Amino acid sequence: MNVQTPNYAALRALLPEPEFALARPLIEEINALKRERDVVILVHNYQIPSIYHGIADYTGDSLGLSVEAAKTRAATILFCGVHFMAETAKIVSPEKQVLIPDLEAGCSLSESITPDDVRTLRALHPGVPVVCYVNTEADIKAESDVCCTSANAAKVVRSLPGRQVIFIPDAYLGQNVGRETGKEVIVHDGRCIVHQEFTAEQIAAYRAQFPGIYVVAHPECHPSVVAAADFTGSTSQMVAALQRIRPGKAMLITECSMAANIQLEVKHIDFDMPCTLCPHMKRITLEKVLRSLQDDVYEVEVPEPTRSRAAAAIHRMLEIGA
Ligand code: SF4
Repeated sequence: MNVQTPNYAALRALLPEPEFALARPLIEEINALKRERDVVILVHNYQIPSIYHGIADYTGDSLGLSVEAAKTRAATILFCGVHFMAETAKIVSPEKQVLIPDLEAGCSLSESITPDDVRTLRALHPGVPVVCYVNTEADIKAESDVCCTSANAAKVVRSLPGRQVIFIPDAYLGQNVGRETGKEVIVHDGRCIVHQEFTAEQIAAYRAQFPGIYVVAHPECHPSVVAAADFTGSTSQMVAALQRIRPGKAMLITECSMAANIQLEVKHIDFDMPCTLCPHMKRITLEKVLRSLQDDVYEVEVPEPTRSRAAAAIHRMLEIGA
């Protein structure tokens, strides 16, 4: 989503006064520098509010941000998210400079699998297409037939011929997609350290405490959590569902910053939820973004032929989405 930042009204509402006072000069310096240097800042929905409302040009989920990365005319893309997201931007826009403010911003899913694991799955299931979730590094995408995000996983799986699909690396997302599409989905044993924490019992307890609460879950959650929710979708699909349904009270079963970031888009909703933070997403701070712009760090590179093989899997996904 294209956004107008800085949104100081949002930040004043979300941040304690001392935090706002510290953030404001950094936000102003970053915005001045990004204009001077022709930089576009892409911000994932799980980033802290001072980044989300202070310095973003575009906010969204992995799918929305990869589309923006592919079409931007800016000379440099600065990615406020985790490493595989910045790498995806470099794969689809190889002529651009792509920066990530902290190279250690990883992901438990992308770290759960190696290219050898993919080759082993292919050898065990010859002829079965491999779908890789976008939460993977470039060398895993390069071994796959097609990429997907949580916004389009079921659509991508349905588009493939045959009854079976190998889905990597998120076991829960794979199982949820199998249930939704009726396909036999062979999964790898990866998990998101944030979404694996939620349980169906938690949802039942919230429903007992707040009758009528509308429960929205991310599909990286366990299938029993997805079954207990009222709606399941990517972070951007969650926002769209809440705007459409307009519940009075809602619970977001996903990373903690999401509710704070979207509160202004769905002002009428009162959120209640267990708070689980992603330590990888939280490695990105305003100070690191400023340093990234000042010192050109850290530049993301994807060598050939890995890049072009990974790009083929991403472009196949984008064609299916279109
Ligand atoms: S929330 Fe989960 S899937 Fe997203 S970056 Fe963090 S560990 Fe990875």
